[in-house]
Amino acid sequence: MSAIDSLPPLRQVISDHGLSARKSLGQNFLLDLNLTAKIARQAGDLSECDVLEIGPGPGGLTRGLLSEGARKVLAIEKDTRCMPALAEISAAYDGRLEVINGDALEIDPLAHLTPPIRVAANLPYNVGTELLVRWLTPKDWPPFWQSLTLMFQKEVAERIVAKPGSKTYGRLAILAQWRAEAKIVMHLPPGAFTPPPKVSSAVVHLTALPEPRYPADPGVLSHVVAKAFNQRRKMLRAALKGLAPDIEDRLLAAGIQPTERAEQVSLEQFCALAREVAR
Ligand code: SAM
Repeated sequence: MSAIDSLPPLRQVISDHGLSARKSLGQNFLLDLNLTAKIARQAGDLSECDVLEIGPGPGGLTRGLLSEGARKVLAIEKDTRCMPALAEISAAYDGRLEVINGDALEIDPLAHLTPPIRVAANLPYNVGTELLVRWLTPKDWPPFWQSLTLMFQKEVAERIVAKPGSKTYGRLAILAQWRAEAKIVMHLPPGAFTPPPKVSSAVVHLTALPEPRYPADPGVLSHVVAKAFNQRRKMLRAALKGLAPDIEDRLLAAGIQPTERAEQVSLEQFCALAREVAR
């Protein structure tokens, strides 16, 4: 745990500021600054970028991002107890850190950021998935971000990068791979966190493509895919019955057999189906 900056070690920060981990906020902290710097490096060259960090907690990843040269970090943290510790980081890094105390699901950060923008976060599972889906489904593309570097529990990370035919293939895989390049770049055991969670984790890096791989309306695609995978064991003609009275014809027009199941259908075919449904 060698120093990456002149600030105190994270264990001391946590004890000085009384930041005992709260389960209700999904607090599993990374205390090894070498590890957080390594995660920050997965986000790419930060020197020309503003970085949006969600859930900085005591600031381990924040310090990694700053020490790796981020032009600016905007950090949104819900837990008010973390504010004094984060203020110390802001002072040590010449104000390159701006902190907003609030709920990332409610705050629009864009007024505080200058493009190009990258996103990095170690978030509780439910908040992370909700934000990921929002970041992947804006009406217009390219989005405000160039890349997302996000910690997830391993099982969720596998769902993001899954390919057709696998058990983990579903809505997250389609939405992520339709408009981004997604890969798992790091695996972390429970012991990397304090307190250790029950499951292993992985860092996923997503790079926004200049345009979607295949044309489709994001709302329609998201709806079709959600319906198809909601009843993933059913044949598509049954799972998608409510979408259109002539759903079998539309499936065929998209190059999909109505007797197929969702997990056999490729991203390209789902996009074709979304176009047929929107017709
Ligand atoms: N980034 C720190 C690290 O890696 O050690 C903390 C990670 S901890 C898994 C998740 C952090 O997200 C906590 O600090 C928690 O308070 C914060 N958090 C949880 N829900 C949030 C929300 N809706 N908006 C902003 N921050 C949130």
